[in-house]
Amino acid sequence: MRTKQETQHFSHHHALVPLEGEELNCYGCKTKIIEPFHGCISCDYFLHESCLKTPRFLRHPSHPQHSLTLIPTPTYSSRSFLCDACGCEGNSFSLSCAECDFDLDLYCAALPTALELREKHEHVVTLAFESPHSIICCDICGKNINPKSWIYYCESCDFGVHLVCAAQHKRESTKKNEKEKQKDTNVESSQRDETEEEKEDRERSGNEKQNKKAKAKDKNSKKKNGKEKKGKAAKVENFQRDDEPEEETAEDHGKSVSQEYQKMLMRDMENQLILQAMDNANDYIGYGSTKYYYY
Ligand SMILES: [Zn+2]
Ligand SMILES: [Zn+2]
Ligand SMILES: [Zn+2]
Ligand SMILES: [Zn+2]
Ligand SMILES: [Zn+2]
Ligand SMILES: [Zn+2]
Repeated sequence: MRTKQETQHFSHHHALVPLEGEELNCYGCKTKIIEPFHGCISCDYFLHESCLKTPRFLRHPSHPQHSLTLIPTPTYSSRSFLCDACGCEGNSFSLSCAECDFDLDLYCAALPTALELREKHEHVVTLAFESPHSIICCDICGKNINPKSWIYYCESCDFGVHLVCAAQHKRESTKKNEKEKQKDTNVESSQRDETEEEKEDRERSGNEKQNKKAKAKDKNSKKKNGKEKKGKAAKVENFQRDDEPEEETAEDHGKSVSQEYQKMLMRDMENQLILQAMDNANDYIGYGSTKYYYY
């Protein structure tokens, strides 16, 4: 019998049960899972909630001409794929266009379209799916960026950084902010002295700060191991949960791209629900016979 919280995913033939507490690797994106998740203990098969909920078909702004299909195991003879965003080899979930041999890992597919790298650059950097020059050096680590890889870029300043460098910087500053915000919640806001940065922060985005404060409070009451998000997983989740209010401060073009993408995700989510219902009704068909669907 299936309990209410159990769920079925087309990539696995057993029901996935809610789990938490252990640090395990997600089968979908091969990064650590920290927050509560679903999995099959007998098969050591675990998925982030965000990976579990990735639509089976979606349109991604990096490949507007075709919809991408979620493939649990690469169908190439090498049993691996190269992510067109970061150039890394992957052997877990991918979002693929079979017609174009275009593949994204789940991490890159969920990257936010605009980011603030406050301590590194004064402007919002936007996700560029093509390198603006044939040779470009990362303005964070100083190393060359593969011209075929995506970058975070500020056009007016010709400032560009690796995806990983941006993510790492973002992670570090998010941690710092969370610490500050936890401090905030312990002090009466009317009495505390604001640092310059906090003041600026508040003026720029009062709403955002309040949201985050509420979140920080929420997190305080949760278990310690759930408090700190790390690694790629944190990044992916940040995009889906936390980055939305942040993008309100982004430049308009970044915002509209993002809204467009959100709309696309919503549309695909609807299709996904229908397909999921169909999957649940049918028996598992196995990895070997992964099918490509188009609509
Ligand atoms: Zn995952
Ligand atoms: Zn299983
Ligand atoms: Zn990638
Ligand atoms: Zn295509
Ligand atoms: Zn770099
Ligand atoms: Zn700039």
